[in-house]
Amino acid sequence: MFSWFSNYLSNDVAIDLGTANTLIFVKGEGIVLNEPSVVAIDQSTGKVYAVGAEAKTMLGKTPDHIAAIRPLKDGVIADFEITEKMLRVFIRRSQNKKLFIRPRIVIAVPSGITEVERRAVRDSAEHAGAREVFLIAEPIAAAIGVGLPVDKPAGNMIIDIGGGTTEIAVIALDGIVANCSIRVAGDEMDEAIVQHVKKNYNMLIGEQTAEMIKIRIGSAWKLEKEIDLEIKGRDLVAGIPKTLKLSSVEIREALSETVTQIVEALKQALEQTPPELAADIVDRGIVMTGGGALLKGLDTLLKEQTNLPVNVVDDPLLCVVLGAGKVLDNVHMYDRILMKSTHD
Ligand code: ADP
Ligand code: MG
Repeated sequence: MFSWFSNYLSNDVAIDLGTANTLIFVKGEGIVLNEPSVVAIDQSTGKVYAVGAEAKTMLGKTPDHIAAIRPLKDGVIADFEITEKMLRVFIRRSQNKKLFIRPRIVIAVPSGITEVERRAVRDSAEHAGAREVFLIAEPIAAAIGVGLPVDKPAGNMIIDIGGGTTEIAVIALDGIVANCSIRVAGDEMDEAIVQHVKKNYNMLIGEQTAEMIKIRIGSAWKLEKEIDLEIKGRDLVAGIPKTLKLSSVEIREALSETVTQIVEALKQALEQTPPELAADIVDRGIVMTGGGALLKGLDTLLKEQTNLPVNVVDDPLLCVVLGAGKVLDNVHMYDRILMKSTHD
């Protein structure tokens, strides 16, 4: 009776705390929040000025006293305090009815996270209003979200390319068998484009422009029809704004080093995979998730480089939070795959 009552009164939530985007799933409602992991802070008072989409539009455009910060940008959690402030705002935004009981929260975190970072995420969620916190490794959440049979004795390989990290994992029997996590992903691609434009055209562009270029004309494999894009930036010599035409060919070249690092990490993870599971992967292939999986032609390149079947899932940006949401439905059934983190 009490458990029915508490389920009725609290909105249990699942969170994908990504380096680029945070998503929240509420039991019985679905995905209720999908916003960039960005916080604008007033540096003179320490007060939060804006969070999420509104804060992202401020990146690189803020006046002196306001700083738009990505608290998870450099790998895992670069700034605990701001991550906590961001989580608190997002959790509040995701709760549309008045709360009588604090929610239980399942949070997906990078699999390479340290014990200290784990505890920090747990504390942040508790300070942000959670009654109980469960952590799950992102690749497992992604696999569950995609509907892969993670509890069977067969290997499933996932490559999740996010903003700050690329995570590659082989999952079998509810656990991660082989794992490789590198801090090279979408952000590095954006940075490579900034550098390319600076070096070849003496022009300065912001990270949001670089991301737009990547999404519009970026690729990892020859396009059927190569495309051009006109962009605006600031001339480094004259100091004035100007426009420039970029081609998909040169952007592919600019991205090639970053893309190669991702390919190498994938090969390394394949080498670490026990032979029996490697055989499964030959049959079932590799599943790509995360926003970076959408880079044009990346699936083709991975196929060529590994000789394995490679598939991009339907909703690469949503599967982690959907998987965490499924876990929320039955925390006890998934007990074995939740990450332990101790209280001190
Ligand atoms: P995280 O889990 O780290 O928050 P996401 O899975 O949300 O990351 O993916 C965000 C990354 O995906 C960003 O670097 C973004 O630029 C990139 N991205 C999104 N769409 C595309 C696209 N169509 N092509 C290439 N990269 C993309
Ligand atoms: Mg992610």
